[in-house]
Amino acid sequence: MDRVVNFSAGPSAMPLEVLMRAQSELVDTNHAGISVLEMSHRSKAFEEILSNTKQLLRKLMNIPENYKILFLQGGASLQFSMIPLNLLQKDHEAAYIITGSWSQKALKEAKKVGQTTVTATSEEDQFRQIPDLSQITHSKNLSYVHITGNNTIEGTRFTHLPKTDAPIINDWSSGILSEEINVSDYGMIYAGAQKNLGPSGVTVVIIRDDLIGHAPDGLPTMLNYETHTKADSLYHTPPTFGIYMIGLMLEWIDSLGGVKEVERRNREKASLLYETIDQSTIFHSPVKKEDRSLMNVPFKTDSVETDRAFLHFAAAKQLVELKGHRSVGGMRASIYNAMPLEHVERLCGAMREFEETMK
Ligand SMILES: *Cc1c(COP(=O)(O)O)cnc(C)c1O
Repeated sequence: MDRVVNFSAGPSAMPLEVLMRAQSELVDTNHAGISVLEMSHRSKAFEEILSNTKQLLRKLMNIPENYKILFLQGGASLQFSMIPLNLLQKDHEAAYIITGSWSQKALKEAKKVGQTTVTATSEEDQFRQIPDLSQITHSKNLSYVHITGNNTIEGTRFTHLPKTDAPIINDWSSGILSEEINVSDYGMIYAGAQKNLGPSGVTVVIIRDDLIGHAPDGLPTMLNYETHTKADSLYHTPPTFGIYMIGLMLEWIDSLGGVKEVERRNREKASLLYETIDQSTIFHSPVKKEDRSLMNVPFKTDSVETDRAFLHFAAAKQLVELKGHRSVGGMRASIYNAMPLEHVERLCGAMREFEETMK
């Protein structure tokens, strides 16, 4: 089988074992006699898939009982609107910590709904770091504080949280299950699946009980979290195949030894790549060391031509999707949970080899 090494930021690489298993079960899933693609979302066979997937996510992330797990559509981007629509109370503000393009987009949607405040931003530093959170103060009338836990485009990640009594909401699209966290530090965590969890088309929302049920009257039914928690993600047809694929990904993570082991692997992969960048005479990382992402690693040379030459060089070695986001330029390697160490080693080898050719 001739498969490339895929460094795409999303939709992104999935473990070959998971793809092969989906293939082998495609026409007869879980011995139900039909494919998961054909199953009614109200069937016993699908309800089992849904409840197993939820239980496994609860186990792997250690999600307390007072949090609900939802599988929604509309991507992380729809959450940018659903969050303020459901949680931003009258006469209150929503605080946003701005660490990159995705948090800017989240803020833009919240502004359409109600009162917002930016309590910290690293924009003046081109988002090359997470702003200092020790000094920020939050007012009393806050509905929530929104952060982007891992910044997919800029390659930074939060290693500590702002101090606040308001619930913290984390857009963890590109970080979910990549390292151990304490779910009860958050009011809500959400993630589009296509980075670390599975295929596109399904968004995971983990939300604390007490935040549900305060939406204003008149909020359209589909946009209300309560609709989906009451119906257990089955108010309407959920993204059934996506949920099934998340289930397979979670079983794969479980079989490796859970999030602890995945985090160990992720740290090993990221250290190797950052070491290669830091030791290189032509590549450099734009990101402040303490805030570097474990999942998305931007790097550059000093010239656009050399960047382009490297992308060609890498592509000839089947190392693909390394072009940086247009707002940052250079290269970006997304090395999500599914990516084995061996693939990162191949990238590092290609970087050293390319550097030799430049001498
Ligand atoms: C990809 C991404 C999004 C957007 O996700 P969609 O599912 O495409 O809406 C939002 N936030 C972060 C941090 C992302 O990486």
